[in-house]
Amino acid sequence: MKMRNSVEPMLLADCKPREQCGVFAVYNYMGPGNAAIVTYLGLLALQHRGQESAGMAYASTSGIELVKGMGLVDQVFSRPTLDAVKASTILGHVRYSTTGSSNPYNAQPLVARTFDGKAMALAHNGNLTNTRHLHNRLLEEGQIFHTTSDTEIILALIFRYRRQGLLRAIEQTMQEIRGAYAAVLIDEDHLYAFRDPNGFRPLVIGKIDDTYYLASETAALDTVGASLVREVEPGEIVSIGPDGLISHSGKADVRKSLCIFEYVYFARPDSVISGSNVHQVRKAVGSLLAGRVKQTLDMIIPSPDSGVSAAMGLAEALKLPLEWAVHRNPYLGRTFIEPTQNERELAVRLKFNPIAGLVKGKKVAVVDDSLVRGTTARILTSLLRAAGAREVHLCIASPPYKNPCYYGIDIPVAADLAFSSEGLQILAEQIGADSITFAEPEDLYRALGHGSSDYCTACFSGEYPGLRARRRKVC
Ligand code: SF4
Repeated sequence: MKMRNSVEPMLLADCKPREQCGVFAVYNYMGPGNAAIVTYLGLLALQHRGQESAGMAYASTSGIELVKGMGLVDQVFSRPTLDAVKASTILGHVRYSTTGSSNPYNAQPLVARTFDGKAMALAHNGNLTNTRHLHNRLLEEGQIFHTTSDTEIILALIFRYRRQGLLRAIEQTMQEIRGAYAAVLIDEDHLYAFRDPNGFRPLVIGKIDDTYYLASETAALDTVGASLVREVEPGEIVSIGPDGLISHSGKADVRKSLCIFEYVYFARPDSVISGSNVHQVRKAVGSLLAGRVKQTLDMIIPSPDSGVSAAMGLAEALKLPLEWAVHRNPYLGRTFIEPTQNERELAVRLKFNPIAGLVKGKKVAVVDDSLVRGTTARILTSLLRAAGAREVHLCIASPPYKNPCYYGIDIPVAADLAFSSEGLQILAEQIGADSITFAEPEDLYRALGHGSSDYCTACFSGEYPGLRARRRKVC
């Protein structure tokens, strides 16, 4: 077995695909406390969906106000800032950029204003697939852009159609934009939510008495004590105002295509998407993976922390001990490690530390939810071998990424993908493992209890919903 002793420069990065954004909004908050604190808590619950910037927009007596900045939620909002917000309707957002660079201008929500004091604010999770076309068209028509984000394109379109009424403006905009969007917009007295016809990104409605909530994930509703009412349906526009919640569009006449990787990696394990709890889906995939593992093993080790649910399912199905044999330092943020070999190796130890007494002489399987560049897998394999493990096998609870995502997920381009057609054994050797086993697409569908037809699976199938004419299978 060929082993890699060198530590890669990227080793401090998680090398996971990254979600674009999270949205949280509250309408008609009646207390206790104030709506900004509740929105802050909702955004904290969605922090895993975006760590670059955070923001809130709210309706005040002088129009729509905005607070936003770069960094994590608790870095952007101070207690005095939140206490100063006097509003009962607030739109919040956490961002990770896939379209548009990481800078304060692109932080959301974005606001559009008129001279007569009218304003609207928009926040969105997803990625448009006809951004360039719309951007060029709007530029030719005289539009000035202040950001490089596709969110501004959505806002610009709604704003220019606003005289027809906001509902009609959103409807018209939805006919022109393509791709993935789960969006929320506020004006002075309404909250609007709309979701693309394929329903790539999740968006749920919650309620406590007469207060409504919108959130990217149910875990955020749980955090603020709201009950789940339902999802915003693909293609639907929902308005929430003094007359309550009104649905303005029927179901879309296209195939539902929820991103299957919301279950694999992006969403929190305690969230429920389309009726399925994320942890239980991951655990079920782990159980099904048991039928594909051919090696004799002594123990199952979760890759911390992303492999925990699947590892539980695999260990249970194989009737093997599940051991937290690698400790991950949860307090490691950015580290200013010099790029020397010695310091990089120390940095690895700072992040991960195997428990030698558990793994010495054992045949172990390390379970992770997905494999992109294989950097974390390579590190863990190397550390477990150094700690005395006799064999290290990798079990990945999703099929290999083969294709890029155009719907709001940052996955390395094809040339960087860990999986290659050279075969699993070569891949295992590149990582330094004895073997590697991936889940098959059928395992995900069985775990979800549906066929493939309800999901986007493009990053492993190459079938891009809504982009059939431009089918992009790249490897
Ligand atoms: S291409 Fe992959 S990551 Fe992107 S939306 Fe589809 S399933 Fe999700």
